Amino acid sequence: TEPLLKVEGLKKYFPVTGGMFGRVKGQVKAVDDISFYVNEGETLGIVGESGCGKSTTGRMLMRLLDPTEGKVTFDGQELTSLSASEMRKARRDIQMVFQDPYASLNPRHSIEKILMEPLNVHNIGDPKERKRKVYEFLEIVGLSSYHAKRYPHQFSGGQRQRIGIARALMTNPKLIIADEPVSALDVSIQAQVLNLMQDLQRDLKLTYIFIAHDLGVVRHISDRVGVMYLGNMAELADTESLYEKPLHPYTQALLSAVPVPDPDFVREEVVIKGDVPSPANPPSGCRFHTRCPFKMDICSQEIPRFAEVEPGHSVACHLYEECRPQ
Ligand code: SF4
Ligand code: MG
Repeated sequence: TEPLLKVEGLKKYFPVTGGMFGRVKGQVKAVDDISFYVNEGETLGIVGESGCGKSTTGRMLMRLLDPTEGKVTFDGQELTSLSASEMRKARRDIQMVFQDPYASLNPRHSIEKILMEPLNVHNIGDPKERKRKVYEFLEIVGLSSYHAKRYPHQFSGGQRQRIGIARALMTNPKLIIADEPVSALDVSIQAQVLNLMQDLQRDLKLTYIFIAHDLGVVRHISDRVGVMYLGNMAELADTESLYEKPLHPYTQALLSAVPVPDPDFVREEVVIKGDVPSPANPPSGCRFHTRCPFKMDICSQEIPRFAEVEPGHSVACHLYEECRPQ
């Protein structure tokens, strides 16, 4: 069967302007030619440091940002070719959950009004049905109908994220793009919100893209995980192979920083040096070559191909024959 979402050759270049007249001086290649798919009912984790392009990717999938190039196909429909009004309709099926629910909830609106809004926008149900749905979804996310008249500031961070999740669910979407949904929460609350998201996925047959900045958070919720570095997809695999047998030196380094729960399991430590280079002036060849402990001559000269090295396990690194230029 066809995947629910297919992303092909997606790019986002932002112009960089400067000087007195705001002339275009160059461009930031925030996302540079990434491809992946997401099957119905699964969770794809997307991980990377800040500035790697993961949020930009999430926003392009909903066309909150228009791609510079590339194709996004969702549920058989090519989103990248839809008009603005057609895209507004398609957004009923794709919703986002944001990192900071406080910033994304209007402080002057009651929870009822906030949850009602997507129903109004998409013209779903009559006023009575809308109200019933608001109460129903408050319960579904572990709050209750007496919370409906309250305002965002009267809730804790974890409760606010439950409200953000409820709002995303109001239109019965198929796909939820969650951009660091638990990063701003205390660790104990993180687990509760992740469990809630997993229960909702099972009960409502949801598909998730779960964006995070560390590999620890996405491990238990993801079926597959993609690792991004400076606008590129460095590696993508099913969760078990990625964590047990990471192929890309960058993934290996990220995992060296995650505590290993099994003391019998020894992972060779890969330490990366230096900071992430500027995406306005990314390194030639493999963008990771300035920090990679395994760098070879070819690495600064040729861009490694993103290729499937083992079944379901793709990587972009010259250490693997399949990724060498052909
Ligand atoms: Fe390191 Fe070269 Fe692989 Fe890039 S292509 S990750 S520099 S070994
Ligand atoms: Mg971000």
